[in-house]
Amino acid sequence: MVTKIKQAPKRKKLRTAGFSNPNALKLDIPTPPTLRECLAQNLFGSGISPRGYRELSVEHSKQLIERYPSLYRLADASPVSSSPPFAREGFACGDGWFAVIDKLSAKLSADPNLVVSQIKEKFGLLRIYFELSPLPSNEIEEGTDIALAEAVAESQMTCERCGKPGKHAQREGRWSVKCDACTAEEARRKSLRPWMERLLAGLPAAPGGRSRLDLSPEHALALLEKYPGLYREAWTAPTSPASRFAAGGFEIGDGWFRLVDRVSARLAKDPALHVVQVKEKYGRLKVYFERAEGVPRDPRLDAEMKPALDEDADESERTCEVCGEPGTHEERHRWWSVRCGPCDQIDEISAACERIGKLVGGLDLATFSANEMIQDAVRLALVDIGHAAAGQPSKSRERLPGIGWDRLEHFKDAAAVKGMPVDELWGFASEEAPVLERKLR
Ligand SMILES: [Zn+2]
Ligand SMILES: [Zn+2]
Repeated sequence: MVTKIKQAPKRKKLRTAGFSNPNALKLDIPTPPTLRECLAQNLFGSGISPRGYRELSVEHSKQLIERYPSLYRLADASPVSSSPPFAREGFACGDGWFAVIDKLSAKLSADPNLVVSQIKEKFGLLRIYFELSPLPSNEIEEGTDIALAEAVAESQMTCERCGKPGKHAQREGRWSVKCDACTAEEARRKSLRPWMERLLAGLPAAPGGRSRLDLSPEHALALLEKYPGLYREAWTAPTSPASRFAAGGFEIGDGWFRLVDRVSARLAKDPALHVVQVKEKYGRLKVYFERAEGVPRDPRLDAEMKPALDEDADESERTCEVCGEPGTHEERHRWWSVRCGPCDQIDEISAACERIGKLVGGLDLATFSANEMIQDAVRLALVDIGHAAAGQPSKSRERLPGIGWDRLEHFKDAAAVKGMPVDELWGFASEEAPVLERKLR
């Protein structure tokens, strides 16, 4: 995942030569933030996201530049391409080496002329370069050499990822120091599916995000953690290329989390089973699973499983798929689904916004102002929105923050909506309605 720096914290105005010429070109070139400024915003050097684990954590980087200001004074240098690497990338090694670097820095700061120009991992070992500066006394130089040799030797035995004892070895053609647990974790992460990566980043599994009909990342991860064998296709190679679970994870709304949790607990009793699809079909929870070949079946387990699974699926027909409150199973807009009253009304708000979008699509304020019929249709949709908003209990308002519920609720007052000035009506129809529709989709 690449986090781009959202905003350069410091902008310097750079004016080109032109002096008093008012027509001279004015340039506003953003200066890249320094390492210190990046860290203050919890970003890594140059605002670039960590290179896997090969970057000291922001917290530890901050501690080091504060503890040893002279040694790491390049943290305040402008990180342009001609500056020393430290100014651009900071501590370019894993967080497991923090203690090694801290100890080394304490020894190095005995020499006030020493400035670190690069600190990184190379061939699996800690490597440090310094800026050229006046030569210190022989004594200090000797001390520095010993400290460096000790730190490098220590890095060779310390897992670069977690700091526990590790082995210096070639892994997939690349030298590194890692402990066994971190080696396994790295391999697991490498085999992660794209939807798992999104979940771990706290994003919905579906790339576009079906928003209201996505299992929340917390709930999805909780299931994967609780039933690792059952959901093994999140990590291991899928049994068939058509496995929907491997391709997309849980394809259900968050309201059914409790049900899926219960189904999973039942299925996990049989270690030969693993899930290949979890989805909603005709408004019912469907969980498809496969059985490993050659594992003897337990007839008693089989006998109790089937009715239990049917019972859970039946319960899904009475549980709002969006929020988990009691809901009704019916055909809505040609699709069978289960929704509670308030969630149904949210769909109505969304549909009203869509109607408004169709009414004003392609118009401008002038044509809109001249067409009273369209204005009346928009006002009608607005009153619908007002009634649906008024029906939202605080629970669903909390689940969907940033909607401005109180304001929407006022639209239920038909007389007020009728008296709404045309430009205000146009503002809502052309700008707010599409945003609202997207948020509630
Ligand atoms: Zn480790
Ligand atoms: Zn609901």
